[in-house]
Amino acid sequence: MRGTRGVIVGDVVDWSSLPGRLVVLSGASGSGKSTLVRRLLGRPDLRLAVSVSATTREPRAGEVHGRDYTFLSPEAFEAGRDDLLESAEVHGFSYGTPAAPVRRALGEGTCVILVIDVQGGMQVRAKVPSALLVFVQVPSLDELERRLRDRGTDDEPTILRRLANARRELELSESYDVHVVNDDLDRCVDELAGVLVLAGCGRGNEA
Ligand code: 5GP
Repeated sequence: MRGTRGVIVGDVVDWSSLPGRLVVLSGASGSGKSTLVRRLLGRPDLRLAVSVSATTREPRAGEVHGRDYTFLSPEAFEAGRDDLLESAEVHGFSYGTPAAPVRRALGEGTCVILVIDVQGGMQVRAKVPSALLVFVQVPSLDELERRLRDRGTDDEPTILRRLANARRELELSESYDVHVVNDDLDRCVDELAGVLVLAGCGRGNEA
């Protein structure tokens, strides 16, 4: 059924039949995921959209509601839980991917990238077997610690919690399809763009 608008029977979506490819991008905070995605979205050779997650955490300085995240109260998040493609608790807050916009973009033949943690990645794999799971590694955990401190957005307990999560995520990421090391931003963007073209996200691959 590839190349059609996808099969929706009642509320059950056959995600893998939608013409766009779903791509999961995971990696420790500080691995540079947001910068990578911003650069990938600017590439004229890719037909790519990024999903905006819902979260219960507070916005950080400079973050915009509806662009970086949809910031929700815990009550509002719970009320919309059934509309999520996947969800997870990360660093003590709830995060989730609203399913409808992703389904719409995939139906139009656009690749959709989800920047989510490994727990979410595993849920996507179970629901959408055709999804491509990509894990961004930092060169080393020492380097990650340096980046988190340089970023200056987190206090000490938060940095330690993020480092512990990074160790756990790295172990869980073994089943991901592709691992890239973000040692050099330009090189990593080029490598990822190549992976995405092979995955069917290049312009000219539209259904
Ligand atoms: P941050 O709060 O630093 O923006 O994100 C913390 C972690 O939550 C990151 O690993 C990020 O990838 C993950 N995350 C962001 N949105 C989602 C989501 O919708 N689902 C899941 N499972 N994880 C998410």
